[in-house]
Amino acid sequence: MARSTYLFRLYGIPIRVHITLWFILPLFALNLTVQQGFLGFLWGVIAAVGLFASVALHELGHSVVAISKGCHVREILLLPIGGIAQLTQMPSKPADEIKIAIAGPAVSLALSLLFGIFSFLASVIGFSGLFWTLSILSGINLMLALFNLLPSFPMDGGRVFRAWMTPKLGRLEATRRAAKIGRIMAVIFGIYGLFSGQIMLIAIAVFIYLAAGAEYRMVQAKEAYSHYTNPWTHAHRPTPEVQDDEIYVSPPPYADAANKSSGSSMFDDLFKQWHR
Ligand code: ZN
Repeated sequence: MARSTYLFRLYGIPIRVHITLWFILPLFALNLTVQQGFLGFLWGVIAAVGLFASVALHELGHSVVAISKGCHVREILLLPIGGIAQLTQMPSKPADEIKIAIAGPAVSLALSLLFGIFSFLASVIGFSGLFWTLSILSGINLMLALFNLLPSFPMDGGRVFRAWMTPKLGRLEATRRAAKIGRIMAVIFGIYGLFSGQIMLIAIAVFIYLAAGAEYRMVQAKEAYSHYTNPWTHAHRPTPEVQDDEIYVSPPPYADAANKSSGSSMFDDLFKQWHR
């Protein structure tokens, strides 16, 4: 895949960083600092790296549970708008999808608690730079958990919602409804982002809007193939060309971080990847 850097493997999964993230990281560092000067910037860099490490661990949470349910994880990709765990061979049981979707926010909640405890310890020993950085990371992880649990498909909460509706409505109809709600929420995020001047939130809204539609079309195509029968032989057509390929996205609520810039070709890359 073009325009991303391979970092290392975690739990056997390649972790990659989109090239736009390297450019935007200093902006995150400036936004996440509470102190002036070079030392303040250094703490900002640590906070920014901690943010994306937290996003990677969130995705790893999805991935580890997914692997235990028999899925394959192709890679985890980190982008300025968040992280993506690319899963293939999804389990068909809705209960498994719920467990996979919940695992990410569960990791973020645990990290929030952990950073919270360590920031308290840092305040006790009077290490203010460390205290602020750990507090910021605790808050970010809490927001990461809560924001992703909103029912805006294809984010985690939306996936839980889709899986919950699947036994009653079937996967296609459940996806259609979840995607519709996801798009409505994306429009709300977009409008809010526009009025509050949060470019990152607008980017996330555009991504959710497009991703909801793309994933609905993917499920639609799969259903069409699986229901296709040869009129002459009435034999089911083999379906190697339509494979499971689901993506767990986890955009963090960046507040006003990196307001000044946004990755432009990021979406092209994402959707090329989606349809490959
Ligand atoms: Zn997630």
